[in-house]
Amino acid sequence: PVVNDSELHAALKKYFGFAEFKGLQQDVVTSILEGNNTFAIMPTGGGKSLCYQLPALMQEGTAIVVSPLIALMKNQVDAIRGISDQNGIAHVLNSSLTKTEIRQVKQDILDGVTKLLYVAPESLTKEENIEFLQSVKLSFIAVDEAHCISEWGHDFRPEYRNLRNIVNRLDDSIPVIGLTATATPKVQEDIIKNLGITGAKTFKASFNRPNLFYEVRPKTANIDSDIIRFVKKNSGKSGIVYCLSRKKVEELAQVLQVNGVSAVPYHAGFDAKTRSKYQDMFLMEDVDVVVATIAFGMGIDKPDVRFVIHHDIPKSIESYYQETGRAGRDDGEGHCLAFYAYKDIEKLEKFMSNKPVAEQEIGNALLQEVVAYAETSMSRRKFMLHYFGEEFDEVNGDGADMDDNARNPKEKVEATEDVVK
Ligand code: ADP
Ligand code: MG
Repeated sequence: PVVNDSELHAALKKYFGFAEFKGLQQDVVTSILEGNNTFAIMPTGGGKSLCYQLPALMQEGTAIVVSPLIALMKNQVDAIRGISDQNGIAHVLNSSLTKTEIRQVKQDILDGVTKLLYVAPESLTKEENIEFLQSVKLSFIAVDEAHCISEWGHDFRPEYRNLRNIVNRLDDSIPVIGLTATATPKVQEDIIKNLGITGAKTFKASFNRPNLFYEVRPKTANIDSDIIRFVKKNSGKSGIVYCLSRKKVEELAQVLQVNGVSAVPYHAGFDAKTRSKYQDMFLMEDVDVVVATIAFGMGIDKPDVRFVIHHDIPKSIESYYQETGRAGRDDGEGHCLAFYAYKDIEKLEKFMSNKPVAEQEIGNALLQEVVAYAETSMSRRKFMLHYFGEEFDEVNGDGADMDDNARNPKEKVEATEDVVK
């Protein structure tokens, strides 16, 4: 290796204050430092950012980091600046900057001060930016949330498809790093193909979350009471209740409040100020529960979320894994409860009916997997991990007894019914 173990640990300590790498971080960092095209697949919270930040800080030149959301980029830049006395060590390049700010960014890059340059793919396609970047020393290009490149991912961004072309124009020998928390084999193939990194060194962490308990219950007319009962039983614990519609979010938050549960609603229809107020109330534990659409959660790092309830079944196993993944990040208890009625699947199908046919086909295929998950009598953990291309031993695996089917095997339930009959 180009850098030995103790040098790596010293850098980890110096820049981030951590004593140890998490999971596969050290392997990924080493691969990047060796100049390989590298593909890292690690669950949310696995510590993907550090995988490219550390090598960027240790190398000469500027690393370009492509990321889909301005908010995420800003967070990361602030965090990186916090570890250095050099403000220019990390920058965001986007269309909201003033001329003066852009000049400063470019100067810092030319001076070799900037180690990490965050850009949205739209900014990267701008001719003036490409021309500038052609003239500077780059270390590598990291594509975060790389699943955005795939129609099979949960967040397809057509602009991501253009990245390989841009890389070729910048310097086709520069290492390209893909990072994602999306584990399905289809999405992974798409990423490798579209980023043009066949033969990339690939590192895939396990997606098993042994501390999460998975449960599916039938959705009936009494769903609101079922949720109230569950939340009251868990009073004082933090939890998220996901609903499909904004209307339901507001209704259910109110129903919970009326029933003595401290809850706030959250959806993209509220203005930014209201959203951040409710989000903070949840993060600061002024309230126990946030009732939300999927607009809530991206980049939120509350370690002690104890339950994630789905009032409506999500549109893919991916989304379900991501959304439930917000529970138990401190490795403590995390109960993931989904309410399921086939009629909700039909509703989701209807939502897609005005979309292009190809998109509908993908959407329906993803939905069928959700149906299979909800209706399966096998270990839900095994089902989910299998979907992600991972083997799971439902007898001895880590977390093997942590789902409703594992605790109450279907045969047993049927046998009891027979006896009653
Ligand atoms: P991801 O992008 O994979 O979802 P992040 O990069 O946002 O994950 O990291 C998740 C959390 O893990 C962050 O709070 C980060 O500070 C922390 N973290 C990352 N690497 C380490 C480490 N080696 N030791 C301790 N904490 C770490
Ligand atoms: Mg990340």
